[in-house]
Amino acid sequence: MYNLMTLLKNRFQRVYDRIHQAEQACNRNGQVQLLAVSKTKPASMVREAWHLGQKHFGESYLQEALGKINELNDLSDIHWHFIGPIQSNKTRDISTHFDWVHSVDRLKIAQRLNDQRPQELSPLNICLQVNISGEGTKSGISLSELPSLVQSIASLPNLKLRGLMAIPAPEADPDCQREPFRALANALHTLNDEFSLAMDTLSMGMTDDLESAIQEGSTMVRIGTALFGSRLSSQQEPQMDNNK
Ligand SMILES: *Cc1c(COP(=O)(O)O)cnc(C)c1O
Repeated sequence: MYNLMTLLKNRFQRVYDRIHQAEQACNRNGQVQLLAVSKTKPASMVREAWHLGQKHFGESYLQEALGKINELNDLSDIHWHFIGPIQSNKTRDISTHFDWVHSVDRLKIAQRLNDQRPQELSPLNICLQVNISGEGTKSGISLSELPSLVQSIASLPNLKLRGLMAIPAPEADPDCQREPFRALANALHTLNDEFSLAMDTLSMGMTDDLESAIQEGSTMVRIGTALFGSRLSSQQEPQMDNNK
């Protein structure tokens, strides 16, 4: 346990250093939140990270996440974010056990999350997943279809529309990395103006491109590998959504 704690502590410190440096480079000190992506990693690791002060965790696979949420229900002030593809038959568990959902990309799913959100909980925080580079992932709504989806979802009472999320295609060159992030940031500002909204969240940036995302306005970076180590390749890809 001592070794895991030391390892995690060093990795968290390195990621915080990267975030702070990137923030400073564009005068955005303190504006970026770290979402620790714990998918495929055991509850014991999440617990250690929580003891280090990390309170927001991202999960992609519902069954795996529910096990961890249950096992860690003694931890106060822990916030769970669902970031994976959503099948309709999973919406009840997601709306009951999570605080945030980053991967909403169609109205039917949003309506179900809204209808199934328990009344005693505060509205579910929602980011819409946008397919910004057209090839990074099959999930996500296109930029052209985004305005009508925003308009429909903004009026659902049990959801709080917080912003946009994207997973661009992997790209090594920082200039190329920044393009889709800039497009997502522009979309957020345009939608806020057009519909008089106050969406405040740009969920963008992962282990290999967090600096580029922060430079273009990210407010939440979703980091897995740099914090918890690499994942087995068979577990890396989100499962196909058979229920579309
Ligand atoms: C797995 C995953 C991440 C974390 O990716 P890393 O490259 O390991 O930091 C971020 N966002 C989503 C949606 C993911 O599925």
